[in-house]
Amino acid sequence: MKHKSVWMHIGAGSFHRAHQAWYLHRLIQQGDDSWYIALGNVRNDATPMLTELAKQHGEYVLETVSPEGERHYETITSIKKILPWDEKISALIEQGSQENTKVIAFTVTEAGYYLTPNHELDLTQPDIQADLAGQAITIYGALEKILTARVAKHGKPVTLLNCDNLRHNGERFRHGFLSFLRQKNNHDLSHWVEKNTTSPNTMVDRITPRPTPDVRERVKAATGIDDHVPVMGESFIQWVIEDDFINGRPKLEQVNVEMVDSVLPWEEAKIRILNASHSCIAWAGTLIGLNYIDESTVKEPIYQMAWRYVTDNVIPCLTPSPLDLANYRDVVLARFSNPYIKDTNQRVAADGLSKIPGFITPTLIECYQKGITPQATAILPALFFVFFERWAQGKLPYTYQDGVLDEALHKKMMLSPDALTQFITNPTLFGELAQSTDFQQLMIKTVADIKQWALNNH
Ligand code: NAD
Repeated sequence: MKHKSVWMHIGAGSFHRAHQAWYLHRLIQQGDDSWYIALGNVRNDATPMLTELAKQHGEYVLETVSPEGERHYETITSIKKILPWDEKISALIEQGSQENTKVIAFTVTEAGYYLTPNHELDLTQPDIQADLAGQAITIYGALEKILTARVAKHGKPVTLLNCDNLRHNGERFRHGFLSFLRQKNNHDLSHWVEKNTTSPNTMVDRITPRPTPDVRERVKAATGIDDHVPVMGESFIQWVIEDDFINGRPKLEQVNVEMVDSVLPWEEAKIRILNASHSCIAWAGTLIGLNYIDESTVKEPIYQMAWRYVTDNVIPCLTPSPLDLANYRDVVLARFSNPYIKDTNQRVAADGLSKIPGFITPTLIECYQKGITPQATAILPALFFVFFERWAQGKLPYTYQDGVLDEALHKKMMLSPDALTQFITNPTLFGELAQSTDFQQLMIKTVADIKQWALNNH
């Protein structure tokens, strides 16, 4: 164990255990045990799980379920070391500063990077201010302490690998981290980081809901193991990584990780096909009184909305692509139809005000540039508009969560007689199209159609 290479992971959520840990486990299964994972967390909230996992020597059962309902159980063996949490993150510092730790990876959620809509570090955030004052409650403060100790001990290079669902996740993290160090006037470490670390972009994919108590029961019934901390996810899995590791890496390509020069085509396909269709289905399903993604996806008119959006508008915009986009679309829609993954419309409908500019507007703009009227794409913001109007009227069946929502301001806007005009002429949502009369007319007609559809189906 001592001389093996260590992949330290920060962020002991379910996703890491269903995704990255699974790939490294598969490598061990193939007889290559040159790498193992040391797992820890910046925050205290994973401590109960980590304590249980330590009692199980880092092993746990992963349950996966296919769209056809086939369940599969596997004991994951790649996590060989649990790093216990304390306020000073001592175990993370100790492990991260060891020479045999060659990759430091993390999943700390999208919000864990504290970036503004312009992708700058948000210095107004209390957590960031706390870390600037010397704490370690964000990935930035934690890495500053870990890497300072590393430089003091030997200064060997290390790859900093972001595995969160963020566009250009390596670059965005790196920009945030270097801004943090500069803000702290820690120029020595900032220069060291620039020279001695890399941050490859990655695209990660496997739907992993929070494990509910019935996972433990099913695991016990199927395997006889009374696992206190099992995880469950869909059978689909994908990981695409830019091959830019500064101090070695496991042979990930042997377990079907796609090692590429640029992750961009995969990222675009995922954001526009998977993430945007997901939101489309959640908004549409909510409008006709449905609670879950799977039941919404299999409603023929909703399935058609997502299918047409991808087929008529996204595929022409993303072609040529190294991916088989039509196949990707069909696989994604089959995954959303999985009745055994009870993902809620509420979860997926969240953050519409950021998803429109991030996931949808690029397709609208590129369609016009190609001379295509984006009728099928206009349905997505139209669905959101009607959904958002219901939110303002207090008619949604659940709380709507949106990181950039200003309750008073948005309610006032959505309840005013010219709500639609304000919405479609908003450059934050629609960029240059906010000025386009063609786009405005398209949206006015599409919103009217969607209102009628929602009325007829409710
Ligand atoms: P989870 O709720 O199980 O775990 C979240 C982890 O992040 C916890 O360890 C928590 O302590 C830590 N964390 C939260 N906020 C933090 C912060 N500000 N600073 C430092 N640590 C913080 O969630 P999960 O299912 O493991 O998902 C984590 C991330 O993985 C997602 O946000 C997403 O970016 C990525 N991901 C998840 C899925 C999925 O289906 N669950 C799929 C693809 C990608």
